[in-house]
Amino acid sequence: MVRRLILFDIDGTLVDTMGAGLVSLRNGFFEAFPECRGREFPPLDLGGATDSGVARFLFDHFEVEHSTETRERFFRAYADDLSSRFLKSDEIKGHVLPGVTSLLEGLSRNERYEIALLTGNTMRGAFIKLERYGIDYHFKTGGFGDDHADRNRLGSVALARMAEVHGEVFAPENTLVVGDTVKDIDCARAFGAKVLAVSTGGVSREVLEGATPDAFLTDLSNSEESLARIEMLF
Ligand SMILES: [Mg+2]
Repeated sequence: MVRRLILFDIDGTLVDTMGAGLVSLRNGFFEAFPECRGREFPPLDLGGATDSGVARFLFDHFEVEHSTETRERFFRAYADDLSSRFLKSDEIKGHVLPGVTSLLEGLSRNERYEIALLTGNTMRGAFIKLERYGIDYHFKTGGFGDDHADRNRLGSVALARMAEVHGEVFAPENTLVVGDTVKDIDCARAFGAKVLAVSTGGVSREVLEGATPDAFLTDLSNSEESLARIEMLF
């Protein structure tokens, strides 16, 4: 039996944090670099972005030195803010998107499938968000926004990590990316994986289909239909 790997994007695909990530990026940035406080925080285009890409953009904008130390300082302050705000559940709304929980359960029960993450979130940020909404236990690993600023590199990272950490090698053609932006479609293409696009993150069907994913679903609300579509792709 050939096993298949399904790599899920997080924001707009599995969960809607209703902007919690953006607030924590801003809070975390000013916490890490207090000398920048009082200056206006620039608008961020987060759809399909990576946190390393966001860091690079903010460091350019605020003329912060680019280094491993400054990046880690920023990511730590961001995740601390996200985590502490998520603990105050009355402050953070947001939810798991419809059908996601039963789809993840269905895939986890099916021995033909392994699931992992392919997200622009840092690894810690990813698991804080998933834990907040109670779906973290489905995931062990993946490719993350602190692995590389270029999302198109994250698919290979996810496959390498599956092989190195979990001892299971997946070929790109046996891998499917599920995501909500054109950048998810592009990053699947970049490593030869298939891609299922969903328009639960605010990007329209027209725009997503214009990027020719292998399959499109408006949402994942009907988990049997979602599973059937995934089956058909292999
Ligand atoms: Mg997304």
